[in-house]
Amino acid sequence: MKAIIIGAGMGGLSAGIALRRIGWEVRVYEKVREIRPVGAAISVWSNGVKCLNYLGLERQVAALGGMMEDMAYIDGLSGETMCQFSLDPLVKQAGQRPYPVARAELQDMLMVEFGREDVTLGAKLVGLEDDGTTVTAHFEDGSSDTADLLIGADGAHSVVRPYVLGHESTRRYAGYVNWNGLVAIDESIAPARQWTTFVGEGKRVSMMPVAGGRFYFFFDVPLPEGLAADRAATRETLRAAFAGWADPVQRLIDLIEPERTNRVEIFDIEPFHTWTRGRVALLGDAAHNTTPDIGQGGCAAFEDSVALAIALQTNTLGIEDALKRYEKKRTTRAAGLVLKARRRCEVTHALDPAATAAWYDELRHEDGSRIMHGILSSIEGNVLD
Ligand code: FAD
Repeated sequence: MKAIIIGAGMGGLSAGIALRRIGWEVRVYEKVREIRPVGAAISVWSNGVKCLNYLGLERQVAALGGMMEDMAYIDGLSGETMCQFSLDPLVKQAGQRPYPVARAELQDMLMVEFGREDVTLGAKLVGLEDDGTTVTAHFEDGSSDTADLLIGADGAHSVVRPYVLGHESTRRYAGYVNWNGLVAIDESIAPARQWTTFVGEGKRVSMMPVAGGRFYFFFDVPLPEGLAADRAATRETLRAAFAGWADPVQRLIDLIEPERTNRVEIFDIEPFHTWTRGRVALLGDAAHNTTPDIGQGGCAAFEDSVALAIALQTNTLGIEDALKRYEKKRTTRAAGLVLKARRRCEVTHALDPAATAAWYDELRHEDGSRIMHGILSSIEGNVLD
């Protein structure tokens, strides 16, 4: 059996690894010539790590993962600690430590495991045909390839999605801009083994450790969509957005490298439940584009890959039947994560200021159990539970 995968991101490469493991021949096609992940790092929560473990990457992902032992929320303006607690109960309940990892390293790990020689770069999908027995992908340069199955892992702006759905989808602006990057750990800003988040005014400044003595940092600021962005002015923009905030936030702004700091406007797509059409299936952001507010978009892509391989391996009534079972297994869970992230986004970013004020108040009375329960409710119900 042969599969064509469109897109060499986290979704496409993990699906490629998963299908190889069940004996499929796989070819991945990627439109860009050089893969540059959009963000600096990503938190792979226990559900995502379990999927990587299942794919044989336990040792590799552990080597990339930062040691995130504690968690704290700090009042961004006063610098006062609102709550601070150990994540150990979460790890014990989930059965796996979560790992914040640098994206470029995660991408490289997946690429090495899948095999660079089986990825065609510079191949942009422009059309596809399913004749009921095979599916053929057509690329911009006039080339084509035919297989038993095609997976659209082509991200938020998927071209496979409208083929599957029969219509275009609208992306919904979530109301905020995220700046992210990596800096060397500086314990005058935050403890090395802690996920530290400063909150106030509907904004967030967050740091978590990744391997190599680095913090993954991000700044979230509620802003209108489509503002002009000047990378060289990133430090000044952040200084203005966080004027009056506590010293550690100012020190972090001093440390960032504007040329290597990403600016991303955050969007999602209303969940939908049609992920397959004939021999074609969607996976990852193509199927469920979420805001990053619960850090589950990429984890859900890993879950999709494992679920797809299990469906293809365990069902013998043909590919279309296996894809329908994959769809049935995945859409409700993924939709739940998208909608949960959207609700968190609204509270975190003061889209409803009263709810945000109540959350800040809750944080001052938090012993960790409510927050860990919230995180665990996203982790649990995953494909390997
Ligand atoms: P992508 O990574 O977008 O890959 C799609 C690939 O398809 C791209 O390489 C693209 O070039 C290629 N492609 C597109 N069109 C074509 C075409 N026509 N032909 C060929 N190739 C094509 N998730 C988490 O789990 N934890 C986090 O902490 C987290 N933090 C995030 C922070 C931010 C700021 C953002 C924006 C997202 C975050 N996410 C997080 C979500 C995560 O980044 C995505 O869910 C994940 O990258 C999706 O992977 P993917 O492979 O589905 O899509």
